[in-house]
Amino acid sequence: MNKRTFLKLLSTLVATPVVSPALAWALGEKLKNWAGNFEYSTERLYSANSPQQVKDFVGKQARLKVLGTRHCFNRIADSSDYLLSLKAMDKVVTLDPQSRTVTIEPGMTYGQLCPYLDDKGFALHNLASLPHISVAGACSTATHGSGDGNGNLATAVSALEFVTASGELVKLSRAQNAETFHGAVVGLGALGVVTSLTLDIQPRYMMQQHVYENLPLGELKEHFDTITSSAYSVSLFTDWQKQRVNEVWLKSRIQEGKSFDAPKEFFGAKPATRNLHPIAELSAENCTPQMGVPGPWYERLPHFRMGFTPSAGKELQAEYFVPRQHAVEAILAVERLRDQVGPHLMISEIRSIAADDLWMSPCYKEPRVTIHFTCKPDWPAVQSLLPIIERELAPFDARPHWGKLFTINPATLRGKYNKLPDFIGLCNQYDRQGKFRNDFLNRNVFATTSLIKQ
Ligand SMILES: Cc1cc2nc3c(=O)[nH]c(=O)nc-3n(C[C@H](O)[C@H](O)[C@H](O)COP(=O)(O)OP(=O)(O)OC[C@H]3O[C@@H](n4cnc5c(N)ncnc54)[C@H](O)[C@@H]3O)c2cc1C
Repeated sequence: MNKRTFLKLLSTLVATPVVSPALAWALGEKLKNWAGNFEYSTERLYSANSPQQVKDFVGKQARLKVLGTRHCFNRIADSSDYLLSLKAMDKVVTLDPQSRTVTIEPGMTYGQLCPYLDDKGFALHNLASLPHISVAGACSTATHGSGDGNGNLATAVSALEFVTASGELVKLSRAQNAETFHGAVVGLGALGVVTSLTLDIQPRYMMQQHVYENLPLGELKEHFDTITSSAYSVSLFTDWQKQRVNEVWLKSRIQEGKSFDAPKEFFGAKPATRNLHPIAELSAENCTPQMGVPGPWYERLPHFRMGFTPSAGKELQAEYFVPRQHAVEAILAVERLRDQVGPHLMISEIRSIAADDLWMSPCYKEPRVTIHFTCKPDWPAVQSLLPIIERELAPFDARPHWGKLFTINPATLRGKYNKLPDFIGLCNQYDRQGKFRNDFLNRNVFATTSLIKQ
């Protein structure tokens, strides 16, 4: 950060009662996303630590975006005006054992929430591959884990509060406002500033993780449904080479003390003899324990451990959701691209997600399977590769992850969401002037570029 930027940041901070714990972070270097593949378009970063401060800040600005833990690979959270961090709002508000819900502030990460819940005897239904992401940011983009019976992480939300463009605090709940609530949960940061979330919880549970190596592609083709339903959460890692899935991760719940009956062979795949990283050559030190060792839900559902802070970046991610009934065809279509994908790929992951009722979720009313690509951090190469993958997946109505990289034509993308007109109507209701929009949203959701200054 240069001196001019520093003074600008300092003067904006002095001019407001909002204290900024994000200052040190912002002063260290240019503000980038986690992967470091882009710099945010402004360094005007503020931090609020109460709904009142959020209201005051929103009231003063013509345009702003909320920043979560900056794990999106695209510019969905970017702003050329102001960024607001709610990192300091990271507390549990209430835990209600009767209604089995927990209400939290928006800056809380899963890594902070899960040990707290577990300590109180409760758990969430699912988690993403890593726990370091904010709950509000994850739910805003329909972040998911895996499991035929598991909806994305936003399906646990039963109520949310947000500050609208006019500074009003709105509360929506599944029970009281079902229709608008379902539109608002996967809000893409476009409805307002989420200041609290209420999540469904359940009694804590124990899990085991078993990993198998070298599942023949032919077996996957023949037994896809049996394979993805063979545990509570199933992840298939492949580099698309040698007609095989490199690793199958089976995450099972221990029911009433009864362990998962791990087969000696899993559709031709052999049990791993040690803990593995999804990329077998890398150290598994940072991965959650495997080899069937029992452990609490939050130390088995993510692939990567809570205690470990992942180094920033060195990868680019893209991910596509295809309807479950087309999963095998779509997987085979990508496999045919193995020679083009191979040189740029670190690893791919295939996961399954249950249908939900959330308007902007890629799984709205339909179970889907995701095909994920962790690529080497070479954007020009990845930018050339993604259209090839997208062309191959187009016949299967592939929808990109809202927080990852894609090159799908915006009009094509908009056409994939039947509830988009209703979602835009909802955004207009709470944000008439487009205060919470940015270039990404204008292009991909609102089909306009007129509201944002570039
Ligand atoms: C290493 C890595 C692993 C990942 N693993 C998975 C995975 O397993 N499954 C998966 O589905 N995705 C995964 N992702 C993607 C990730 O879950 C999403 O990008 C998610 O949105 C990250 O949350 P965040 O808080 O970092 O988001 P940010 O990038 O900070 O923000 C995302 C969006 O949320 C909005 N937002 C954040 N907080 C608020 C708020 N309080 N009010 C209103 N809007 C808000 C922002 O404005 C923006 O629109 C992974 C990403 C990385 C980097």
